[in-house]
Amino acid sequence: MVNRLFEHATLVTLDDESHIYNDASLAIAGDTILALDQIPTDFRPDERIDVGGKVIMPGLYNSHTHAAMTFARGFAEDLPLSRWFNERIWLLESALTPDMVTWGTQLAAIEMIRGGIIGFADHYFHMDKVADVVAQNGMRALLAWAVFGRDASEVGTTVPETVDFIHQTQGAANGRLRACLGPHSPYMCPEDFLARTAAVAVREQFGIHIHAAETAGQVENSLRLYDRTPIEMLNHLGLLETPSLIAHAIHVNNIDLEILSRKRVNIVQCPSTHMKYGMGVTRVPDMMARHINVALGTDGAGSSTALNMWREMRLAVLTQRQAFGTATLLGGSEALHMATRNGAQALGFTNSGILAPGYAADCIIVDTTATHFQPLHDIIAALVWCTEPADVSDVMVAGQWLLRERDLQTIDEAEAREGFEEALALMLASPYTHFQTYDD
Ligand SMILES: [Zn+2]
Repeated sequence: MVNRLFEHATLVTLDDESHIYNDASLAIAGDTILALDQIPTDFRPDERIDVGGKVIMPGLYNSHTHAAMTFARGFAEDLPLSRWFNERIWLLESALTPDMVTWGTQLAAIEMIRGGIIGFADHYFHMDKVADVVAQNGMRALLAWAVFGRDASEVGTTVPETVDFIHQTQGAANGRLRACLGPHSPYMCPEDFLARTAAVAVREQFGIHIHAAETAGQVENSLRLYDRTPIEMLNHLGLLETPSLIAHAIHVNNIDLEILSRKRVNIVQCPSTHMKYGMGVTRVPDMMARHINVALGTDGAGSSTALNMWREMRLAVLTQRQAFGTATLLGGSEALHMATRNGAQALGFTNSGILAPGYAADCIIVDTTATHFQPLHDIIAALVWCTEPADVSDVMVAGQWLLRERDLQTIDEAEAREGFEEALALMLASPYTHFQTYDD
């Protein structure tokens, strides 16, 4: 166990009070935060780190992504969602290989770690490969093996297989890995399949990660087919009986919100994707008023193009203020909370997301010495409005360095780039097949 003492830091705790300590110390004992500001006199550090006034804050959580989809970055641009799925993404994914998932995820991990992201909620295929990648690279992750429920044409696997995967993965890698069920969405999965998945979730007490209510067309289709909104469908079929993570949830009415407020749901908005595809704006003020946990995600690089949580944080504030006409919405630390502790809560890492004694030693150092931060009148405003991924100099998860003075500590970047290029070349050279159709 290594004891470390960070000195001369600006500590931004992001707990309820969002304390800021200037020229302060942070003591870490092994994988746990021991103390901040007031350090016990008998603490004996093995290593002292002079932070030189830079900011130490909790690491960021990317609460909805498809990490391996770095292979689709820039592959399907300027298309409506239906053509994005039908003419580009699902054709390319018909040639998906386990190796592509390994290296695509590792490439995403490099981008995420460099940008201060310590954990992600992944919804994709070949999740056993993702579990291996995360076990090795030191991040935290909640893994959902995506299932469409259309047997003959399925990419991936079946629900019974994902049940085995969840049992093997839950709590693995010293608790850095978590897993849940990943039915794709109420608009792509058959009704009876969703009901069966819900029954498994209740029986096994597994969480669920799903897409829902992304477009007005999806709601119209759902009302026409089932006489229920997508959220009413999830509730009716029993998919909200265990903790759930719902990506997007843009087109929700007040009845939907009442349902969500009574369940253990976490809503993840992905502003880049929402804006890029003209999908609309998540009703964050109405959700917050109902005490629904709202977190933030980048979505996959195939849609948002970048895994940049600083951009998502800023766009969240900007889109919400633009849509709801108020300059105070998501003020102060609220955007930072969505990207840190709300995400930790959504992923089930309840001992992470804030700087406090007893919490996991999960933190990042933001180098606020660059010109674009000056002057530092307001440290919270600087973090929300001025920070770019390249300003993150150090990343630590459970006391282990993943990035130290901008050098990756757990990933061989050259090897990852080479593996990625090889897997992508094979995939692009493979014949594609049309295996399903999206219609809104
Ligand atoms: Zn998504």
